[in-house]
Amino acid sequence: MIMAPGLVDIHVHLREPGQEGAETIETGTRSAAAGGITSVVAMPNTQPAIDSATGIRFVLRRAAETAHVRVWPSGSITMGRAGEKLAEIGGMVKAGAVAVTDDGNSVPDAQLLRRALEYAKMFDVTVVEHSEDKSLMADRVMNEGPLATRIWAIGAFRANRIHRGRAQHRVGVDGRTSI
Ligand SMILES: [Zn+2]
Repeated sequence: MIMAPGLVDIHVHLREPGQEGAETIETGTRSAAAGGITSVVAMPNTQPAIDSATGIRFVLRRAAETAHVRVWPSGSITMGRAGEKLAEIGGMVKAGAVAVTDDGNSVPDAQLLRRALEYAKMFDVTVVEHSEDKSLMADRVMNEGPLATRIWAIGAFRANRIHRGRAQHRVGVDGRTSI
């Protein structure tokens, strides 16, 4: 037997609303509880995406009704996770969002991301940016690496997900060089 504090999974896909055939807040959190996880951060890549205070309130309400562990909702950085227009970050934070992310999509416009970081700082919320530049992905069939070289495939440069925390986004906005 292993005795440990409750684990926190900061990146889960609960698929509700919109894809309840795949997962729900009830089934996802039941699995989490079975694995010793006591709190999860729900990603906003639902259908529709969680990009408003109403969406955050929906997740919290469904969690209160059905969840087996604590659910902390995150909201999208941009409307519909489409990378074009900022979502209502302040409203979502006030409704209970603990982070903003376009989970699975990067924000393709640096100016838009900068504004998102400024809002996030204002509302003291974490930005989780999916680090993938689509311009580096075009026509690629696999990740760069020794295998790609050996079979003569053009590999896609791909980085792991970067979680830009509070300290780091302060660096970005204020131009400080240390965390
Ligand atoms: Zn994800």
